[in-house]
Amino acid sequence: MASTPSTVPTVQLRDGEQIPQLGFGVFQVPPEETVEVTLRALETGYRHIDTAKAYNNEAEVGQAVRAAGLAREDVYITTKCFNDDHGHDQAKRALHASLERLEMSHVDLYLIHWPVPSKDRYVETWKALVELQQEGLTRSIGVSNFQQAHLERIVAETGVAPVVNQIELHPYLQQPGLRREHADLNVVTEAWSPLAQGAVLDDPALVEIAERHGVTAGQVVLRWHLQLGNVVFPKSVTPSRIAENFDVFGFTLTGDEVSAIEALDRGERIGPDPDTFG
Ligand code: NDP
Repeated sequence: MASTPSTVPTVQLRDGEQIPQLGFGVFQVPPEETVEVTLRALETGYRHIDTAKAYNNEAEVGQAVRAAGLAREDVYITTKCFNDDHGHDQAKRALHASLERLEMSHVDLYLIHWPVPSKDRYVETWKALVELQQEGLTRSIGVSNFQQAHLERIVAETGVAPVVNQIELHPYLQQPGLRREHADLNVVTEAWSPLAQGAVLDDPALVEIAERHGVTAGQVVLRWHLQLGNVVFPKSVTPSRIAENFDVFGFTLTGDEVSAIEALDRGERIGPDPDTFG
């Protein structure tokens, strides 16, 4: 298998590392299907896999990378510290346990999955991630589902900003305020549920743009994310969609088309509210 497909651009992170802008997400991929589905993605050319302890399929992601015959450095792996592992010592133990399941010596990116403000332990957890990076167990550290106040607090209390914030982001939830905060802090935006789990794909405005380019609405949405500079990792267990979602580099949306998609924002979440979840 080729080491690095040339079609996927990388995004520069503040800590000097680079992340492939398009990856493959495995949330809700059942463990018994994960090796086959992830292997299919790697064969298609994806070189970035987004998993989490909470997805219960880290071991199978590791197996798929080895089954693909790829060198460890040719695949970018993200995993996440879940809500029951907040706290300094627990977070450190959690990454060790993830690495054991993955059968890897390090991950590329380790994230705090949710801030869980009700526990108020995310600053302590963030300090543990800073140490884990210094120990070489993860190349980069970031957060997920952090709101502006959570980001500002970890920066104020530790002096270390995350390289990414992975947030729910799609045409119906565009989060302009949080994206501006990311730009100010030089934090890369990772968009989870980039297709709104399919909920945006029948939107007439997206269908019309897709017809104009001879592509699908899903490809239009992914292309829109890429042109905004977001990192995305759509999930699919369907071979034709795994291929379709990777084939988004052969067309470009016009400024008017980007504006038309921007006008679809409804501030509508499909996932939990980060201020109360956990
Ligand atoms: P997505 O927006 O990626 O949508 C996935 C759904 O859309 C699946 O039902 C899939 O169906 C379907 N689908 C995929 N591609 C197409 C297509 N081309 N045309 C039509 N339907 C399609 O949602 P996810 O919630 O999975 O988000 C992606 C990734 O983001 C996750 O896998 C995970 O890595 C991450 N994530 C992170 C969260 C966090 O809290 N940090 C929360 C949620 C997700 P099928 O599989 O049947 O083909």
